[in-house]
Amino acid sequence: MSADHRVLSNKEMWGTPKQFLAGQHLRNYTGALLNISLGKDIVCYFQFKVMYRIFRNLKASNLICEVAINKRREIDITESSFFRNSGWSLQICRCIDCYKVCLFAHCNATYIHKSLSEDKAGTSHSCSLGLYVNARQRTIRLVETTKNSLVGVFLNVDIAEDDMVAFGVYNPSRLDVTVTLDSGSDIKMGVLPK
Ligand SMILES: [Zn+2]
Repeated sequence: MSADHRVLSNKEMWGTPKQFLAGQHLRNYTGALLNISLGKDIVCYFQFKVMYRIFRNLKASNLICEVAINKRREIDITESSFFRNSGWSLQICRCIDCYKVCLFAHCNATYIHKSLSEDKAGTSHSCSLGLYVNARQRTIRLVETTKNSLVGVFLNVDIAEDDMVAFGVYNPSRLDVTVTLDSGSDIKMGVLPK
């Protein structure tokens, strides 16, 4: 985590705030929460850039990063929310069908599966994504900001009063990954929630 709470890395960074070094922010989840609480009436947008460099071939369904919307206790059950039935999530991971790195996002009837890059050592990739969360309409829109294109719309998403947004980063022995928040300065990562 960078000192300004804008960059999350799967490696320790210079200036990492003390609570991260002490592991006080989350018990099991390898990531950080955003400082915004969602709720039934929330309409918000945030965007982030994902950059990764693979230095050891990925295998199985090795995770690179994820974004999860769920209750804090659900997010923090394990190091990722990949197999959680509740909430909303997006994962970038090695795909066991394509043998590539793919983006997956699913909720109710909407399922997105999109190849991003190779899964071999030497591969680098970056993408800019945006999430528009509208709890009143119960929708989440995922956009690719560099291409200004809509990746998918998730309907009938239930966003509860104490839901939070989390970013997770994984597999430091195989890859370098950073997630950089690219939204207004009022949205930060890793501020301890009340
Ligand atoms: Zn795939």
